[in-house]
Amino acid sequence: MKITSRKVVVIGTGFVGTSIAYSMINRGLINELVLIDVNQDKAEGEALDLLDGISWAKENVIVRAGNYKDCENADIVVITAGVNQKPGQSRLDLVNTNAKIMRSIVTQVMDSGFDGIFVIASNPVDILTYVAWETSGLDQSRIVGTGTTLDTTRFRKELATKLEIDPRSVHGYIIGEHGDSEVAVWSHTTVGGKPILEFIVKNKKIGLEDLSNLSNKVKNAAYEIIDKKQATYYGIGMSTARIVKAILNNEQVILPVSAYLRGEYGQEGVFTGVPSVVNQNGVREIIELNMDAYEMKQFEKSVNQLKEVIESIK
Ligand code: NAD
Repeated sequence: MKITSRKVVVIGTGFVGTSIAYSMINRGLINELVLIDVNQDKAEGEALDLLDGISWAKENVIVRAGNYKDCENADIVVITAGVNQKPGQSRLDLVNTNAKIMRSIVTQVMDSGFDGIFVIASNPVDILTYVAWETSGLDQSRIVGTGTTLDTTRFRKELATKLEIDPRSVHGYIIGEHGDSEVAVWSHTTVGGKPILEFIVKNKKIGLEDLSNLSNKVKNAAYEIIDKKQATYYGIGMSTARIVKAILNNEQVILPVSAYLRGEYGQEGVFTGVPSVVNQNGVREIIELNMDAYEMKQFEKSVNQLKEVIESIK
């Protein structure tokens, strides 16, 4: 895949789609942005609102509402359409409605002649990334789910806050389902290059008991935000813009996107959040972490749950 026009189409212009659009514009990532929504007025209104600020943006960007024909020469199509979680709902509760929406959208995108990379953010994201792949007929590498990128930035932020260290000096991943069965990989978490388990021995700010509280807090972050403001969107907006940047700039950066497992971690036939090298072709390869036995077991449980849901919607 060669990136040509830096044209991105965002389908679904609700909280998440517009946050992704806003973040991409402010980071100067794109030359052209087309917004599509089943509610045409919403897409048009959002395009007009975003355009109003364009003279202050990092780069000039064409922003407009459009239709599926616009996908033909797009480098990336980002899909955020679908219903979101209501207080008390899990992501998996959304699967039937959102799988139908995903199939109908991907069919229309492919009918346009689209030949780029899909980035999927709609929930449950690992399942919908699978549905997008199956409907598109493209190679699995070209369908990139946002996976556990948001959970991972939450994880780094929580740990960094506790330690009073810049989150960019904290390395570690949440992997597996973007949802209730996600796994914190403590065995591969480092702070300034030092494994966290060694770090806490000398550090008074954090103890072993804090680690499981912290991963639970990350797992439940969306529930807390949804209880307070009905939706989450800035975090996923910034996470998705980060993935778009990696693809457009052919970065070969490692991000925990939802990628298709072909035997890695002893699993196959499922998309889930795992550290992956992302470039202009989508997912180049998956990095296999040599996790401890407990983490492996948790990951296996998470993947098995995703496989069951995939079977149930086939
Ligand atoms: P929202 O209700 O604000 O927006 C959804 C938009 O999709 C609406 O504008 C709606 O008109 C549009 N839409 C619905 N059906 C459509 C169709 N067939 N074609 C085109 N557009 C259609 O919801 P939101 O808060 O923006 O959430 C969107 C999705 O993103 C949800 O599934 C939510 O759970 C998910 N989400 C994912 C993450 C993540 O980490 N991946 C984080 C937060 C939210």
